[in-house]
Amino acid sequence: MPDEQGTTSTTAAERALAEQLGSSLRGEVIGRGHPGYDEARAVWNGLIDRRPALIARCSGTADVVEAVRAARTHRPLVSIRGGGHQVAGSAVCDEGLVIDLSRTKGVHVDPAARTARAQAGVTWGELDRETQVHGLVAPGGEISVTGIAGLTLGGGLGLVMRAYGLSCDSLRSVQIVTADGVVRTASRDQESDLFWAARGGGRGIGVVTSFEFGLHPLGPDVAAVQLLHPYERAEAVLRAWRDATDSTPDTVTPELALWSVPADPALPRDLHGANVVITVAVYAGPPGAGATAALTPQRQFGPPLVDMSGTVPYTTVQSAHDMLFPDGDRYFMKSLFMDELSDDAIRVLVEWDARRPTPESLIVVRTLGGAVARVGADESAFAHRSARYNVSFDAGWQDPALDEAAIGWARSAWDALKPFASGGMYINFAGLGEDAADGRGAIFGSHEERLERIRAAYDPEGVFAPAARRP
Ligand SMILES: Cc1cc2nc3c(=O)[nH]c(=O)nc-3n(C[C@H](O)[C@H](O)[C@H](O)COP(=O)(O)OP(=O)(O)OC[C@H]3O[C@@H](n4cnc5c(N)ncnc54)[C@H](O)[C@@H]3O)c2cc1C
Repeated sequence: MPDEQGTTSTTAAERALAEQLGSSLRGEVIGRGHPGYDEARAVWNGLIDRRPALIARCSGTADVVEAVRAARTHRPLVSIRGGGHQVAGSAVCDEGLVIDLSRTKGVHVDPAARTARAQAGVTWGELDRETQVHGLVAPGGEISVTGIAGLTLGGGLGLVMRAYGLSCDSLRSVQIVTADGVVRTASRDQESDLFWAARGGGRGIGVVTSFEFGLHPLGPDVAAVQLLHPYERAEAVLRAWRDATDSTPDTVTPELALWSVPADPALPRDLHGANVVITVAVYAGPPGAGATAALTPQRQFGPPLVDMSGTVPYTTVQSAHDMLFPDGDRYFMKSLFMDELSDDAIRVLVEWDARRPTPESLIVVRTLGGAVARVGADESAFAHRSARYNVSFDAGWQDPALDEAAIGWARSAWDALKPFASGGMYINFAGLGEDAADGRGAIFGSHEERLERIRAAYDPEGVFAPAARRP
């Protein structure tokens, strides 16, 4: 607990925990006095400033087993860290124990079986690098530095999801250390309840140490459309984009963002800072005539300001926007699902876009459907199979003085769009504490009850109960 000087003293319980971890882990145990403490407790979102008592930097599954055993004995508050990119900073906790897998980076691809096994500290860029050697992909998120762990356990929306489904839909199995310290393999055939939960409801069921993905042939080059449209035509572009997405084949996953052009030397200087509409679409298949035909409707939203379309390496598409989300800036993201993008909803989006608090903030509209919707509603814990769109309000800024305005903008814009929403909340873009305010039902819907039963069966003492309550 912090004392009057604001420093934090070590309690006897913490010392006992540190001793057990110190004598049993191969990886580092990092406490408040460690020179690497501040670096080890920092996460991607600079808004988050949590001070755990101990960070157990696990070197592999055996370390995770030891960390879970120690947690069960000493009962600290536990958080689990994969890539550390959850906007709510759920990977770290105040005063408790962080079970940190971020240094576990093994990836093994079996090209003949078309599978990849990746440890929980791997990022999407690291996984893509290995799978692309064989012209294969696991469908991931859109920023290469995000972790495969949190993203997959929460579902996983990405640029090829209409063709291949959510990231969690390609999971074949996970290796997981449950609260009793037992290492289990969960798949459709073994520990099937755990496997069901891991696909979209994987918070607080245990510590997943590795993910086995089924892979899809794609790349190394893909055909992609990326256009910047003038802001004066924002509403018209949104309407045309919506109409085109209605008939788009499942091989194409269209996405749209309202944003300001960053000072990227690859973009025309006179546009830096200008508000624009960006439309993006990737063809999940070989470049060529089929790709051109499928993508043509995504190029017909009026004359663009800039056309960056072409045939590019899949890894380039997957990392194209990394530089726009620098580590350590301040962020807040909150999204909702929609079945329909009506003209009125489009008007609200453009109105709220005009009030964006900083040029780094943006609104993103992702298109679901296709393979995402073909998985049965109750086949996995992910509860939003039938939604057509996910709309995310992503505030980004640097100056702490803007905290209230930036977060307030995203929350108010979300409130304004809510009347048009189909309900539900995506755990991976769940704001800061909003999941608690809006209820877990918003995230897991009717699946929450089954998740509770699974958590209780595998963790009757509630070692991971706080982790289950965080996004
Ligand atoms: C810039 C940016 C872009 C993004 N783009 C997308 C996108 O395109 N599509 C999308 O779907 N999402 C996207 N996200 C959201 C992303 O899915 C979440 O932030 C996700 O939680 C990141 O996973 P992580 O492992 O890096 O996070 P962490 O912060 O490490 O973990 C997130 C949560 O998962 C739990 N967790 C982590 N590892 C494990 C484990 N091994 N076992 C059990 N529980 C674990 C943590 O306790 C925490 O609750 C984006 C986020 C950012 C910051």
